[in-house]
Amino acid sequence: MRIAERVQQIEPSATLSISARAKAMKQEGIDVISFSAGEPDFDTPLPIKEEAKKAIDQGFTKYTPTSGIPELKEAICGKLFRENGLSYQKEEIIVSCGAKHSLYNAIMTLCNPQDEVLLPRPYWVTYAEQIKLAGGIPVILECHPETLVFSLEELKRKITSRTRLLLLNNPSNPSGVVLEKEFLREIVEIIQHYDMAVISDEIYEHLVYECEFPVSIATFPGMKERTVIVNGVSKTFSMTGWRIGYAAGPKEVIKAMEKLQDHSTSNPTSISQKAAIAALSSDTQLIQEMVEKFNQRRKLMIHALQEIPGVTFPVPRGAFYLFANFTPYLECKFEGMRIGTSLKLAEILLEKAHIACVPGIAFGMEGYLRFSYATSEANIEKGMSRLRDFLIKL
Ligand code: PMP
Ligand code: GLU
Repeated sequence: MRIAERVQQIEPSATLSISARAKAMKQEGIDVISFSAGEPDFDTPLPIKEEAKKAIDQGFTKYTPTSGIPELKEAICGKLFRENGLSYQKEEIIVSCGAKHSLYNAIMTLCNPQDEVLLPRPYWVTYAEQIKLAGGIPVILECHPETLVFSLEELKRKITSRTRLLLLNNPSNPSGVVLEKEFLREIVEIIQHYDMAVISDEIYEHLVYECEFPVSIATFPGMKERTVIVNGVSKTFSMTGWRIGYAAGPKEVIKAMEKLQDHSTSNPTSISQKAAIAALSSDTQLIQEMVEKFNQRRKLMIHALQEIPGVTFPVPRGAFYLFANFTPYLECKFEGMRIGTSLKLAEILLEKAHIACVPGIAFGMEGYLRFSYATSEANIEKGMSRLRDFLIKL
């Protein structure tokens, strides 16, 4: 059968495929230490699971409204007001099957074929592919090599008459960078001047260290009207498998996204929606405990990588990733061949050192590797010393 061009032009998700490969090796009995996972290793908190069990027992197992049940939308509005200082009505919210799905709906709704979408590098794997699926053109914003943040000059330089959207991910996957309020304010001026819209992926907002809770770009005057916020429960509440994400934005945009969802997935799982209400209404202590653990692991990983000669990185302050520059090691030879690419280096590390990480090229940056510290301190210690021992011998 012939595969449509739309799908031929996109790449498989490197983050998902490497995590799957690492899991398969573990099942074969190989002692792989995985730093590839983009998901918290904690179990979903008990009160959330209890709510899902109750939903099943009470027969809450049928279709719901496509865009989510009103109680969940209320809980999302409550969260946006309480935590982000933003006032939304239920009609301005749509619940989807994970934040990835919310992003897909938003991009398909806002991006026409040939529209240009500004995408800061390094970018999470899925953004570029979703833009291409919509027929849009991802226009990359280059970053400063040390901070991994784009400059305002770069932003202005890349704007053309076809630019429609800026895709922001704050805190960033893969770099862990958290953008400051003052920088966002300057971005806002440019966005408004050029009459553009923003999709703001805020899924890691709770996972921040040594800095304030990140400011949403939608909070600046005049920005709520031109922003679609994407968020979800996957990362904050360790609920990656439940598949609940949401978007908040102008009523007409949300309505259009709902039409798309009507004809693709319909509603997200009824049971997961009930669980998500419990998550969004839960004691913030639950989150703080996880953040504290991530922070300890983050420090451990920073320390271990700082010990490896030639490796540099901006200290991550958000999410649970560290994105480090391994360029000097690409010049090394392994089994007589120059390593050359981050993909090759990641493959060698997996096959020979039994360490899984994601090659930077998946995020648009050659020479880098992404390490997730959503794993135990023991794994970090063991894996990082394995990494150091392997690299030193190259
Ligand atoms: N945005 C970013 C930046 C992510 O890292 C992820 C992780 N998969 C998502 C969105 C999607 O999350 P979800 O599991 O809710 O689809
Ligand atoms: N977002 C996670 C990651 O970057 C999960 C995998 C995915 O959905 O791509 O690893």
